Amino acid sequence: MDCIFCGIIEGAIPSGKVYEDDCLVAFNDAAPRAPVHVLIVPREHIQSAAALTGSHAELLGRIWITLPKIAQKLGLDSFRVITNAGADAGQTVEHLHFHLLGGRTLDMNLG
Ligand code: 5GP
Ligand code: ZN
Repeated sequence: MDCIFCGIIEGAIPSGKVYEDDCLVAFNDAAPRAPVHVLIVPREHIQSAAALTGSHAELLGRIWITLPKIAQKLGLDSFRVITNAGADAGQTVEHLHFHLLGGRTLDMNLG
């Protein structure tokens, strides 16, 4: 499988990892859109949020419990979480990931 994020998770592609555990990896986005822009990525290759099923419930719980801990570790009092599903939503890497953004005032211009 030719997946950039699987390559990062396996360590074959270098990245600035800020956190990892048995189910997810978090690393700095290569083209940050905010002072803090981290991608939270499950180790399991899932195409996008549109491919999630009941079998992923535990994984999603782990992600949402861990997200604020990563934000806190990075010194964020406020943060935003975004996931893009599908090309028109801006998804460019087809491995489920959550953008964690913060470190400045964010507006709602999501265009
Ligand atoms: P998407 O557009 O799919 O929601 O988000 C993909 C994100 O992955 C983009 O913000 C892009 O900058 C980031 N990205 C793409 N390739 C790489 C890479 O090789 N390394 C890192 N660290 N980020 C990447
Ligand atoms: Zn992958």
